[in-house]
This record gives sequence, C-alpha cells and structure tokens, in this order.
Amino acid sequence: MKKREVHIVGNWKMHQTLVEISHFFIEMSKMKMELKCKAWIAPQSIHIPILKEIAFTTGSIQIGAQNCCEHESGAYTGEVSPLALADIGVEFVIIGHSERRSIYGEKNEVLNKKVLLALKHGLKVIYCVGETLAEREAEQTFNVIENQLSIGLRNVTPESAHLLMIAYEPVWAIGTGKTATAEQAEEVHAHIRTKLKLNAEQTIILYGGSVKPDNIDSLLRQENIDGALVGGASLKAQDFRALCSSASTAMM
Ligand code: PEP
Repeated sequence: MKKREVHIVGNWKMHQTLVEISHFFIEMSKMKMELKCKAWIAPQSIHIPILKEIAFTTGSIQIGAQNCCEHESGAYTGEVSPLALADIGVEFVIIGHSERRSIYGEKNEVLNKKVLLALKHGLKVIYCVGETLAEREAEQTFNVIENQLSIGLRNVTPESAHLLMIAYEPVWAIGTGKTATAEQAEEVHAHIRTKLKLNAEQTIILYGGSVKPDNIDSLLRQENIDGALVGGASLKAQDFRALCSSASTAMM
C-alpha cells in the first residue's frame, strides 16, 4: 500500500493521429472499473480538446499539456499560454522535460517562470529533473538535480505547493531502453524529497525513463517512487493499461 496516490502519466510527445487516438481510448475504456490509480495523458496541444472530450465521456483519464509559455499573453507566435490551458480545463502541464531542455535550450531560469505562471493559473505542474550520462559518471547527479530544483522552483509559495509534482528522469534512460534500477531511482527520489522546501512528504515524485510493464512493479515497490512519467509505453493502450493495472495494485 503506497503512502501517496500512484500516478501513471503518459507523455505522447509528437505522436498519435486521430485514428490512433480513437483506438487507444476504445481499448482503455475496457479497464475503467479496475482503475484505482491516477491515469493522465499529455498529448500534442492540438489534440487536447479532443482528448478532453473523450476523457469526459470515459470518465477515467485526465488530460494535460507537454509544455507552456513563460508569458501569459502577447506577441509570442506559436506558443501556448498557461492561461489558455487553464481556460479550457487542462489539469496539468509538464515543465522542463529533458527534450525541452536539450533541443529547445530551456534553462532553469525560464522554467522557473513557466512553473510560477502555471501554478498561478491553478495547473498541476510536473517539473522534470535529471542528469545526463556524463553528469552521472562524473558523480554530479545530486548537484545537477539540486540546481534544477533550487532555481526551477524558486518562489513557489506554500499556497501552491500542493499543485507541484516532480519527475525524476535520468536523461540517459529516456527512450533508450536503459532504465535506472529501482535502487538507483529510489536513491535519487529520496534525495529529491529531502531537498523539497515545501510539502515534501506529500509531493508526488514520478520516475521516468524507459518504464515498461515489465519493470514498473519493482519501481513502485520503492518508498519514494509515486508513479511514472512514460513516453514510448504510453502510446499503446495495452501497455498503458498494464502500467495502470500495476499502479492500481500498488495502491491497494
Ligand atoms: C519521457 O519522454 O518522459 C520518457 C520517459 O520516455 P520513455 O518512457 O520512452 O523513456
């Protein structure tokens, strides 16, 4: 039995067509009654309204965004405002995913602005942290993560801390098929919890990095792992169902 609610969050990245989405939900609806964990999906922004509609009908999955702008409104072509996300009833937003950090050059300072603005609009925030392989090999894992936490979460207030979640995603494990061992992940999760200034005991800390139906159970057995942020395995309903089913068992 887990201390905190177990969350399985699918990050669909830039995948899924409308036909694939409809197949996914037909499959998922078959497990509605077994779902005891929180099941969340972050599709491409353009698909959010459609997924919200389907999720409303099936009643079991909550929908979020993969990113948001650090500004509320204005001349920022191509960006999506956290205000607009909140306006259409989005539940959560992922901020600081390693692909945003490495491909789009997002630094902790700009991520901090996104975090604060998303929280201001009442969105739950999944703030991602994690080290590269070079940083792990140089024994810098804790330093890198502490820095990501202290700058990225600067000025988060006690009033909004309950909306904050953390995802520990070692960069070397994302999309590579290499998962951190449950013990490696737990060591970092426990460390993250000691570094959180607000609401530490209640904060949901997800693990992400090649999570699959065959490795989720050992991860969820760890005291400080409260669920998973999942890329590849969240695209197939069968795998996502299996992950949610393991998470539901871990809740009991
Ligand atoms: C991710 O993109 O957040 C992720 C963890 O991907 P994958 O599960 O494919 O490693």
